[in-house]
Amino acid sequence: MKCSYCQERAGWFTRVCQDCRRLLAIYEAHQGQIGLLQFLDLFIETGLPREKIEAFLAADPRSEGSVKDRILADISTELLGAMGVNAQQSAQDVKRLRQKGTWQGLGERPKE
Ligand SMILES: [Zn+2]
Repeated sequence: MKCSYCQERAGWFTRVCQDCRRLLAIYEAHQGQIGLLQFLDLFIETGLPREKIEAFLAADPRSEGSVKDRILADISTELLGAMGVNAQQSAQDVKRLRQKGTWQGLGERPKE
């Protein structure tokens, strides 16, 4: 079967290859806590090729937005602003984050 993220061969019984599973685990572990640039650092640290990381970020296997879109939606405008990224975030989204209990850390600027 083909990997539903990078479209490379994943194996007979799995729809996500081992590399993408590693990236996915990183995403799930830090979802809503760190920004895109910090995710990129973690992804690059895995030593996987850049093309693989880019394919993973652009993938949208369940038609709910690409991984990259989801990372951007997960974090607040404030945090994005601190990293020099412009994005629109609705109040509803921020409220949802607050309710999830991840709000506390979001006001803090990333360490230089
Ligand atoms: Zn893959």
